[in-house]
Amino acid sequence: DDLKPTDLHEGLDSTLLILNHELRRKRINVESSHDSLPQVWGYPGQLNQVFMNILTNAIQAIGQQGTIFITTRYHAATDEVSISVCDTGQGMPEEVKRRIFEPFFTTKEVGVGTGLGLSITFGIVEKHHGRIEVHSTPGVGTEFIVYLPVRQSVA
Ligand code: ADP
Ligand code: MG
Repeated sequence: DDLKPTDLHEGLDSTLLILNHELRRKRINVESSHDSLPQVWGYPGQLNQVFMNILTNAIQAIGQQGTIFITTRYHAATDEVSISVCDTGQGMPEEVKRRIFEPFFTTKEVGVGTGLGLSITFGIVEKHHGRIEVHSTPGVGTEFIVYLPVRQSVA
């Protein structure tokens, strides 16, 4: 995976294409609202893994029938992009939310979750000098927002 100017919409689209069958089977709608984004200096394969992990969690949190809202924004003042993935899933209580980035932390049954998705995601975003925000309300849903700097060099 090479460090290069990366089109995040391309990554989101190809990730959604892989998940398309599962989304239809579970009757989950995806609604998108996109800014036009500058390319981000990064590792496209790793950033795709971030999208895959967050979207897979959203699908699993919804179970059957719901909506995933994907919003991308360019923040000119800080020269950052943000990708928000908001689901109408089960949400999570505070004591779960506190631990989600720990390796091997999972609330899922054995064989469903390894508990590694978000710890890997955290590492990838950190490597890109970005950050992740999480907002969640039990019974309502969850929003993950990934912020990535556009020009920051990557280690
Ligand atoms: P896994 O999906 O294998 O359990 P992750 O690291 O991807 O591991 O997620 C850790 C935990 O975070 C999940 O088990 C779940 O409890 C919680 N979680 C992550 N995303 C969501 C979401 N969108 N809605 C509700 N809970 C979530
Ligand atoms: Mg997961």
